[in-house]
Amino acid sequence: MPKYTAHLLLGTNMGNRCNYLHFALKAIQERAGCIYGVSPVYETAAWGFTNQNDFLNQALTLQTHRQPEELLAVLQEIEQQAGRQRLVHWGPRTLDIDIIAIDDLVIESERLVVPHPAMRHRRFVLQPLADLVPNWRHPVLGLTCEQMLTLCTDDKAIKKYDACGILDSKRI
Ligand code: AMP
Repeated sequence: MPKYTAHLLLGTNMGNRCNYLHFALKAIQERAGCIYGVSPVYETAAWGFTNQNDFLNQALTLQTHRQPEELLAVLQEIEQQAGRQRLVHWGPRTLDIDIIAIDDLVIESERLVVPHPAMRHRRFVLQPLADLVPNWRHPVLGLTCEQMLTLCTDDKAIKKYDACGILDSKRI
């Protein structure tokens, strides 16, 4: 059975945000595969509707036997378990889990686009990902995470957020 290495981004801006990150790490570890790296947590200003709470974002790396679309389905179930409702596009959410990349696969299906198309424009994706896998290379652009971060013109505020304590897979 093939094994994939997937890089995910967690986002939350409602309720107890640290608890939602913790919930996501635990559920992903239980249901999707083995988490073997997490980034620091960042607090970032919201995109889209800016009149909403700031987000916490955290990237993680996962080893999984699940096929890409199956992985997406499991992650969407975990979002639902966290009480996520899709009321407003880009609106507030308890838990958002995006698949940023899976190895060097390029997927453009109706339900799943990988690497995530917005990643290179958003500092809140690139910064935690560069902390985690600075040398991962975008299979189409040919740029590493660090290079994409250097080129990124997104000027939304993003800062490290320590108030959750250490959230990593060894403590879940
Ligand atoms: P969002 O509201 O940002 O969570 O977007 C969810 C929608 O994006 C779902 O309909 C997914 O099928 C679709 N989607 C496409 N590519 C991805 C990806 N790489 N990660 C997560 N969702 C994706």
